[in-house]
Amino acid sequence: MPRNKKPQSILRNRVNFPPFNGLPDEAEIDLIYWDEGPFGFAPSQHWCFLGEIVDFIGLARVLLYVKDKDGQVITVALHTDDRGRALAPQVKKGHTVAVLYGEQHGFLDMSVGLRVENASNIKIIPCSLEQLLSASDDIAAHRGQPRHCGSCGKENTSENRHCLRLCSRCKQASYCGEDCQKKAWVDGHKVDCKALAGVQWFAGKNWIEFDDYFCF
Ligand SMILES: [Zn+2]
Ligand SMILES: [Zn+2]
Repeated sequence: MPRNKKPQSILRNRVNFPPFNGLPDEAEIDLIYWDEGPFGFAPSQHWCFLGEIVDFIGLARVLLYVKDKDGQVITVALHTDDRGRALAPQVKKGHTVAVLYGEQHGFLDMSVGLRVENASNIKIIPCSLEQLLSASDDIAAHRGQPRHCGSCGKENTSENRHCLRLCSRCKQASYCGEDCQKKAWVDGHKVDCKALAGVQWFAGKNWIEFDDYFCF
């Protein structure tokens, strides 16, 4: 059997980055995510919900309406100390919200979603969910490949190993010089860069071994 060599795109993983229906239910212990240890149940791996903001309300507390990977729209209610006030300036339709260790919650009005109590478990990434997922695919596809200029395509060779420099924001795109970097920025990297930078945080962590909780 030929091995599937396609590199894994981290954010496409549906165990560590599940849609709402794949999240553990707060009413029961989900053994996909929890293990019984000497001090009771503890997570056995990390998980993070990702969804795109389709609408929001911000009166007494910030409520986000968020569309997950499967297109289901759920509510994300901010029950943090400041009720989401600090997060509010970043809330925009079309941007992506990431919630660490979220569990399926049923609200009193019969809607379902996530109740976020810890402000360091939620962050907003300034790009759409689709842009974030394709940035994750791009990073996987280029892993281990020789770098080339993101504008003119010039490759890194052993002779000119240091000719390419990385974009300081996303640390993914590389360019042979300032002119190529400026051109690529205007040609669209300005948008892609935010998504690539957004993936960096996730890509730099080990999601399948639990040591301590991550926080944003
Ligand atoms: Zn170039
Ligand atoms: Zn960049």
